[in-house]
Amino acid sequence: MSKLPHIGTSIFTVMSQMATEYNAINLSQGFPNFPVDERLTSILARLTKENVHQYTPMAGYPPLLDKIARLTQQSYQRTVNPKTELLITAGATEGIFATLQALVNPNEEVIILDPSYDCYEAPILLSSAKPVRVALNDDFTPNWEAINNATNEKTKLIITNNPHNPTGKNWTESDFLQLEKLLETFPNLLVLSDEVYEYITFETPHISIHHRPKLWNRSISVSSFGKSFHITGWKIGYVIAPEYLMTEIKKVHQFLVFSVNSIAQVAISEYLDIVDIKSLGSFYQQKRDFFRSLLKETKLELLPCEGTYFQVASYANISNESDLEFTKRLVTELGVATIPISIFYANGKDTKCIRFCFAKDDATLTAAAERLKKL
Ligand code: PMP
Ligand code: GLN
Repeated sequence: MSKLPHIGTSIFTVMSQMATEYNAINLSQGFPNFPVDERLTSILARLTKENVHQYTPMAGYPPLLDKIARLTQQSYQRTVNPKTELLITAGATEGIFATLQALVNPNEEVIILDPSYDCYEAPILLSSAKPVRVALNDDFTPNWEAINNATNEKTKLIITNNPHNPTGKNWTESDFLQLEKLLETFPNLLVLSDEVYEYITFETPHISIHHRPKLWNRSISVSSFGKSFHITGWKIGYVIAPEYLMTEIKKVHQFLVFSVNSIAQVAISEYLDIVDIKSLGSFYQQKRDFFRSLLKETKLELLPCEGTYFQVASYANISNESDLEFTKRLVTELGVATIPISIFYANGKDTKCIRFCFAKDDATLTAAAERLKKL
């Protein structure tokens, strides 16, 4: 009998496959199509000849752990102990899986805010726990009344994702005040903060759980070098958590992967000495502005985009089709692959919106917009 009867192949895989099949421009699955920084690839090339090919310690290559602690200090003024509060993971996905497996017990509940990214639910189900899906407000801000109503003594965790995939929304100071209040009311409640797009924000600065000392002892954050360094295929990220939680997360990580691939860890450790991670926001802001200016010449209506490399657009004034039908038609007839937003909702809510990934070179974005003008 299936342990995950309702889980199918992810829409990101399905859409990327369709893009290949129909020779379409792929703005669906989120990954950059421009080259990786040559400084990083040349570090990697040099390292292939060095002694970096065996297991690193289970929690990660120690110099990389130290540099992430330094980065966390520089970015958020939070001091983390690299030996006890940090873990290098095989992408954020593994960090999320290990965290949920380690901390969530059978019959406990975990709050997920919809629309939500797709990798949260399965690990909760595999823990024989209950995902509780709570809708965001129509403007994609957290609905605190609904969240408060959904939280009870059985609620182990609330998963937050800020900046938000797919909507590009950032949390505000007032959201954090509400979250802190919720944690005061429920002393056993924890926060799993998915911050993989932490360095991709635009006019509104990113507020991290690391900015909020009241949350430190109750939160786990997840980051991804895939997003921050344009290397999604390397599958490398990290988790920060207080020691009492990290001890449990490491127990799962130890038997899930043991340690993460060594050469990537050493390369990133060196690269962190020279890269200016803070410039990522302005890099993507230019892409966002360029893509939005192109889409303004189409009939699509653009929603705001405060962060991430995703742009959501409404096609409500173009067609009555479901978003699944619409995206299928876009890929097969127009040759542009996108993601229907309904898949991010447990109840499949269809808001007639689609998601574009704009982490693409200008020529790709221009070519896609030319096709979309035919709508
Ligand atoms: N969380 C969110 C919100 C994401 O968009 C992604 C995807 N790319 C992940 C987690 C997983 O990140 P990684 O590729 O590092 O596993
Ligand atoms: N996070 C990526 C996205 O939202 C997908 C990664 C994947 O395919 N697992 O498009």
